[in-house]
Amino acid sequence: MTHLAVSIFVENVAQAHAAAALAAEHGADLVEYRIDNFTEDHDENITLVQESPLPCIVTCRPTWEGGDYDGDEMERISLVEHIGMGTRSDGTVSKRRPAYLDIELKAFDSSANLKQKVELVVDHPQQHRPVDTGLILSTHDFKQRPADLFQKLEKMLMADSCRVVKAAWMARSLRDNIEAFELQSSKHKPTIALCMGEFGLPSRVLAKKFGALLTFVGQNDEEVTAPGQVGIRTIKELYRWDQLNASTKVYGVIGWPVAHSMSPAIHNAGFDQVDHNGVYLPLPIPPEYEHFKATVSTWLDFKPLHFSGASVTIPHKENLIRYVEEMDGEVEPLAKTIGAANTLTVREDGSLYASNTDYAAAIDALCDAMGIEREALKGVKVGVIGAGGAARAIVAALAHYGAETTIYNRTLERAENLAKEFSNSTSQIKSAELEALKSAEAKILINCTPIGMHPNIDDIPLPDSSILTSDMVVFDTIYNPIQTQLLKDAQGAGAQTISGVEMFTRQAMGQFELWTEQSAPRETFEKVVLNKLNADK
Ligand code: NAP
Repeated sequence: MTHLAVSIFVENVAQAHAAAALAAEHGADLVEYRIDNFTEDHDENITLVQESPLPCIVTCRPTWEGGDYDGDEMERISLVEHIGMGTRSDGTVSKRRPAYLDIELKAFDSSANLKQKVELVVDHPQQHRPVDTGLILSTHDFKQRPADLFQKLEKMLMADSCRVVKAAWMARSLRDNIEAFELQSSKHKPTIALCMGEFGLPSRVLAKKFGALLTFVGQNDEEVTAPGQVGIRTIKELYRWDQLNASTKVYGVIGWPVAHSMSPAIHNAGFDQVDHNGVYLPLPIPPEYEHFKATVSTWLDFKPLHFSGASVTIPHKENLIRYVEEMDGEVEPLAKTIGAANTLTVREDGSLYASNTDYAAAIDALCDAMGIEREALKGVKVGVIGAGGAARAIVAALAHYGAETTIYNRTLERAENLAKEFSNSTSQIKSAELEALKSAEAKILINCTPIGMHPNIDDIPLPDSSILTSDMVVFDTIYNPIQTQLLKDAQGAGAQTISGVEMFTRQAMGQFELWTEQSAPRETFEKVVLNKLNADK
């Protein structure tokens, strides 16, 4: 069983116990008391353990290992010994001891005297007294994976009194997690292996999948004791901790940056709804193709991970096509035409499939709102504002169905190139500068620029709103805010409006269906998106 251990910086006994009780309510089954700054009164520390609402790990981390304790080393070890013995200054002995004491390997190795003191209070083969407390030997590196990690692990494994091996290091890329997963699965001794920082989240969430002794969580996302730690409710509710097991399939959103993506909330809620054994994580990969290739390949090669698919966003949509082609996978012809794919699917036989769900999402959001079939777009005058990635998918669809499209863009050349690329025998696409929107004669107007997006919510992508009329349909691909100023002005003019939320929800549904082969729970998706966007207001 993998414990969920909430880690708490102790300020006083009452505060620490209240935090531990709350953590227990939220599902933690272990608490780590970080007493780095709470070392004055030994009796208080004994009360901390004696009356703890949960079994506890006690850790007094020195500054030289990334903690806050900067006092005398022998005093620190005496404190640990005191807590382990449970003897108060009046000679009475506490009935309860810590479940674990955490001591840094570096300290343990530094002096025989110190080692002896620690071994007095923990369980080990030569221990004569009945002691339950287990010793966690730990090593931390806040900069990188330590070059001598294996030597350190070896020493911990060899130490008779070491019950648990702990290694934590700053991940420099998502690839570092693989080594953490391997350590978590090792059977020599119970292990805690965690990567720190933004790249390390998978090692924290998937610790249960790989059978680690525990993962550490904060009381909430803000009150954490290590970089990259998340709050207990996030791991339980967003990342579905209770459902994770060895065969859980792993998905995620690949992009740079991805920290604020709504996709983890949407897909995890969807998996929950249809009982799909999956978990979906943010997967930050730096922009260069080599990073994309190295990371995705490493994750795919590590079979126990069951890496099964990903949403792929800026700046990797072109990289995905290139990668899947290089790996002899299949690229959806449409994605190839558009030149961008937003979905990676790993099929049961391990082969890769890259596809684009933005195209169908955009065109169906438009047609469904208008109550028409895609084919009815033939000959309809459409103005597309913008010539970037979103515009490409939409222009490809409009061209395919024969709409009379004009692309308006700040950089005219880009609009011209896009128009040239997608013009065909049934659809001659025009291009123009943004200024030309003043005289646009479009029945449908689609904004594919970020103008009006949070936080610049008062901006509109038009020279002025007077071109908006009641017989128009205005589609803003922006989804944050839900109602952009453009949509508000369009409504004011009596036009029909479509929010980017429609497109966003549909592209996610398309991905979900590819991965799970089940219908996406639309209502759940919409609810999550709207809750998230309303919470961000
Ligand atoms: P992109 O590839 O970077 O393209 C951005 C486009 O907007 C370019 O044509 C750019 O013009 C134009 N632009 C940017 N800032 C501008 C400004 N200040 N003034 C005038 N034009 C400006 O981005 P993208 O991937 O196409 O995304 C564009 C927007 O679409 C996003 O902001 C997002 O809100 C929306 N989107 C929505 C969904 C959805 O599911 N609802 C999906 C994808 C995108 P230049 O060519 O002159 O640089």
